[in-house]
Amino acid sequence: MHQLTLAEIARGLADKKFSSEELTKVLLARIAQLDPQLNSFISLTGELALQQAQAADARRAKGETGALLGAPIAHKDLFCTQGIRTSCGSKMLDNFKAPYDATVVAKLAAAGAVTLGKTNMDEFAMGSANESSYYGAVKNPWNLEHVPGGSSGGSAAAVAARLLPAATATDTGGSIRQPAAFTNLTGLKPTYGRVSRWGMIAYASSLDQGGPLARTAEDCAILLQGMAGFDANDSTSIDEPVPDYSASLNGSLQGLRIGVPKEYFSEGLDPRIAELIHNSVKELQKLGAVVKEISLPNMQHAIPAYYVIAPAEASSNLSRFDGVRFGYRCEDPKDLTDLYKRSRGEGFGAEVQRRIMVGAYALSAGYYDAYYLKAQKIRRLVKNDFMAAFNEVDIILGPTTPNPAWKLGAKNSDPVAAYLEDVYTITANLAGLPGLSMPAGFVDGLPVGVQLLAPYFQEGRLLNVAHQYQLHTDWHTRTPTGF
Ligand code: GLN
Repeated sequence: MHQLTLAEIARGLADKKFSSEELTKVLLARIAQLDPQLNSFISLTGELALQQAQAADARRAKGETGALLGAPIAHKDLFCTQGIRTSCGSKMLDNFKAPYDATVVAKLAAAGAVTLGKTNMDEFAMGSANESSYYGAVKNPWNLEHVPGGSSGGSAAAVAARLLPAATATDTGGSIRQPAAFTNLTGLKPTYGRVSRWGMIAYASSLDQGGPLARTAEDCAILLQGMAGFDANDSTSIDEPVPDYSASLNGSLQGLRIGVPKEYFSEGLDPRIAELIHNSVKELQKLGAVVKEISLPNMQHAIPAYYVIAPAEASSNLSRFDGVRFGYRCEDPKDLTDLYKRSRGEGFGAEVQRRIMVGAYALSAGYYDAYYLKAQKIRRLVKNDFMAAFNEVDIILGPTTPNPAWKLGAKNSDPVAAYLEDVYTITANLAGLPGLSMPAGFVDGLPVGVQLLAPYFQEGRLLNVAHQYQLHTDWHTRTPTGF
């Protein structure tokens, strides 16, 4: 039963082959048995899950239908869940029970999804290895000595290990697509504004976007359908109708124009990954796509720009964690300054503190023009490159990451080495574009992802291309040994 995809679960529930309660019990038992090896959950919500499953079964018995009705999922632990710990992977929020549900959580619950738990993540979503979590590192089910990627590493490891079919995640600079690539999943970062950020604890507000992590494009379509839509509570949410994503999966790829940026295939890329990416292009050509070399000339400036803008926004967003209103407070503060200093010094981990300092520096008078303003100008150039490219092509294709998942601890002493691994993902966040990563093969037994980018609001096109690719390849069906 644990091998079923969301689409298969929906059919099984509709055909009364099993109930949501039965399925939920199987998966909760599987999590209890296997998750100790992975550490992919911060909190389990078994009781809530069983209640939700029974309620979903009752709704189905009354004739209600829906792809998510009775479907087991989990939420990255930065989506607020009412009455349930919402830690953001941080000691700072270890004791925080959210007083309300995030819009994404409320929408999925209303659609009948069953929440099995809250998944592990890098502290405040800062990282690409899931090693900065206060709750310990997450292991990659493909090789327990390797990282699962981050910051949505818990969601990715849990879905890859078949502990559940799909999970929510967020992507500020790659945190859906990169862990998808590292664990052989399909992950979609929607257009900025497509999915409400209300109740999603902020890292860098102008870059953050929630989206689905699942095994197939078909399942990403189902989960995204439940997450997307306008929300008056989020002023950056966009009031555009949500198309039927599942209906878009079957379009023909005849004549689809794929752009492959020449800058993607530079020295830093593992040549074995480059070969797998070229293979995926050939596969799409067989399906009727035409390929064109394109150029994204400002891509080289994206990492420095991102690592100014994201920390700058983080330093502002995280100022609310002051030990006064909620979250961690130090013992016996001497005075107010001592309370601030020690609450933040003890409550935040090293990577979060590093980013707050970088961000505060970049925003300070005298440095603002030199760093923050310049980074914003680069951001516009990156966006302009994409706009020019999308005049010529329908999607852009390339690797999701320059290397496969590294060993646990391998980049801990050198944060910049980890930042450089984000080179292919962060440009979509800077421009606000939708992007998808899907399985494209293996290197040394570790999964490799191919990334597709599309114009604003063309999530349907990404899902269509990925689904057609998955109908003709079987990389996404491979299961890690032992799971
Ligand atoms: N690795 C990037 C960072 O550390 C992206 C993280 C994310 O998307 N949340 O900022």
